[in-house]
Amino acid sequence: MTALGLRDLAGIDVGRLKGVGDKKRASLAAIDVDHLLDLLTFYPRRWVDRSNEARIADLVPGDEALVLATVRSVTKRTTRNRRTMVTANVGDGSGRMEVVFFNQPWRERQLREGLQIALFGKADVYRGGLQMSNPVVDLIGDRTGRIVPIYPQSEKAQINTWEVAGWVEEALRRCRDRGIDDVLPEDIRRRLGLVSRFDAFTAIHLPESIADKEQARRRLAFDELLRVQLVLVLRKRAMERDQRGLRHEVGGALVHRFYDALPYPLTDAQRRTIAEIEVDLAAAHPMHRLLQGDVGSGKTVVAVATMLAAVQGGHQAALMAPTEVLADQHAGGVRALLADVSVPDPGNLFGDRPLRVELLTNRVTGADRRDVLAGLVDGSVDIVIGTHAIIQDAVGFSSLGVVVVDEQHRFGVEQRAALRAKTVDGAVPDMLVMTATPIPRTAAMTVYGDLDVSVLDEMPPGRTPIVTKWAEGPLLEAEVWSDIRSQVAAGRQAYVVCPLVGESEKLEVASAEETFERLASDELAGLRLGLLHGRLTSAEKEATMEAFRTGDVDVLVATTVIEVGVDVPNATVMAILDADRFGIAQLHQLRGRVGRGAHASTCWLLTQQPADDAIGAGNPRVEALVASTDGFELAEVDLELRGEGTLMSTSQKGRSDLKLASLRRDRRLVELAREVAFEIVDGDPELTDHPALADELDLLFSDDDEAFLAKS
Ligand code: ADP
Ligand code: MG
Repeated sequence: MTALGLRDLAGIDVGRLKGVGDKKRASLAAIDVDHLLDLLTFYPRRWVDRSNEARIADLVPGDEALVLATVRSVTKRTTRNRRTMVTANVGDGSGRMEVVFFNQPWRERQLREGLQIALFGKADVYRGGLQMSNPVVDLIGDRTGRIVPIYPQSEKAQINTWEVAGWVEEALRRCRDRGIDDVLPEDIRRRLGLVSRFDAFTAIHLPESIADKEQARRRLAFDELLRVQLVLVLRKRAMERDQRGLRHEVGGALVHRFYDALPYPLTDAQRRTIAEIEVDLAAAHPMHRLLQGDVGSGKTVVAVATMLAAVQGGHQAALMAPTEVLADQHAGGVRALLADVSVPDPGNLFGDRPLRVELLTNRVTGADRRDVLAGLVDGSVDIVIGTHAIIQDAVGFSSLGVVVVDEQHRFGVEQRAALRAKTVDGAVPDMLVMTATPIPRTAAMTVYGDLDVSVLDEMPPGRTPIVTKWAEGPLLEAEVWSDIRSQVAAGRQAYVVCPLVGESEKLEVASAEETFERLASDELAGLRLGLLHGRLTSAEKEATMEAFRTGDVDVLVATTVIEVGVDVPNATVMAILDADRFGIAQLHQLRGRVGRGAHASTCWLLTQQPADDAIGAGNPRVEALVASTDGFELAEVDLELRGEGTLMSTSQKGRSDLKLASLRRDRRLVELAREVAFEIVDGDPELTDHPALADELDLLFSDDDEAFLAKS
């Protein structure tokens, strides 16, 4: 008798379990539990450890405790200040107590007489008796055992935890004879100290102890992570195998001329990153590398060094930015960096020719455009800088060797496909994707798992750190405007970032216009204000940006269009309105627009005064920004605050989801899973020797999931 595979479990309908009739079958369907695999991976939300249980008679007022009790009676009333109050009388044989719930009217329906419940909270003495208010409540029904699993319950679907527990128990009993196939090679399982899969499924649902449950969780979480990593690593290796790339000449004269012309030495991080990139460039397969580096970490230098490797070998390079403004700015920056660098040209009498860098956006038109396009075709343009449109339009290259893409998030699958089409005699250009959105290492391994990742984790020296301050309410807001006025008086410039308004650009623009009018006629009257938002034409945007760059505008009032890349070193103050509406990553990006010059900079985060009852509620995101300017640290906090699942897009919730594994808590496990995935795939590139494992990937990952994982 062979052990049951996950596919077998997925073939057994939950309707075949005792106690699952038509009605319950429908309820289970409502929570997406259709077959035994769904049921066995419908994991408990919590485990109540009854060995910590206290008797009511032994409760110490003021201490937290877990109590198991039976509901005796329930009443509901409305208090004088119009709150609902549900009171339950509960007892456990040793004594009785009162449990009160404020503003939870539904407790009256939930806590029926005779029900077994677990209560976790602090008991106090009230009118001579014991009382717990607003404790954590778990309905445990008639479950016995030392550790009681608590399943996610749904009142709407009419599913309660003890029913689920009963079905799971039956399902496990039925699997016991055949066992559940362990697809993980035995030697790996032993080496990592993982329990068998059948034991894991059993102990996650019916643990003997909390330690037991932890072992089970570790195994099952590892499986989840391993599957994701296998898909990514298989794809990565397939790409390396199937795509032919160019072997670029690294460390040539050109790049050395570039380094010599730099007014500063490279940081260690830049050196290390460039070395990592050079290994890829020299290899026979195309590079697919992600370069993560916080704003200001000096990614442009790395990009230029990468592009020069292509030019050195007689190929071309393209740098793509998400917007025209940024493309423009990049062109300026790259030209400045390469001003003194010429290309060694053996065909030229002087042995050199100037390096040709061109900008190609929609605003380059007419004869100029024709000239650039012709130069790309005949190879006389070495480096072209533009928006993503470069690769989508019918732009022909003589020999495109390297592509650098700025800003990962807006560069999608289609663009990547278009890129592959621009081959040189069948060789795919090397690609470097740069992002200024730091994500934690283990998250990167999962989200960008088919890319190699380099990290610029060191800032160039000589930066004055940005001081971030939280201005809550009108009093502190006044201080913000006065700070901006005094900075402008001292010759500096400022940004005011307008609130995010839902998803609507129209509303956002309206609010930016309103803010602009208000500031111009009131708080910042007399200063020269500019307005920048997404509804302006590119020419208008560029004119405003130029005026700000040249100092003709003191204060730039803008929507989040300034989020990426805008570089005006003289701007030293930023005020972000309604900062609590932004995410951590976005606030960090925005803040990176200041602190780019020699002058000390300030970033003000403004929030409205909270309503009375929310005082002291705090604002963890704003607080995190005040506490740290380190993008990676903030990314960890962000992951912490947003919890799990936010990395995978919500539309992709499916069987491939991480149900137990946490990219945040299971960092070591993510790394192990990645190592094991490489070990397995490198020994067996098509998983022909691991058919059961391959079958599971096939079962659990839809094409959509795979496309999503490959989105980078
Ligand atoms: P990023 O694109 O990563 O935000 P940039 O490439 O724009 O950062 O670099 C930010 C600033 O740091 C630029 O003004 C650049 O001239 C400067 N810079 C880059 N590398 C170094 C270095 N090694 N030493 C000193 N300054 C540097
Ligand atoms: Mg290569």
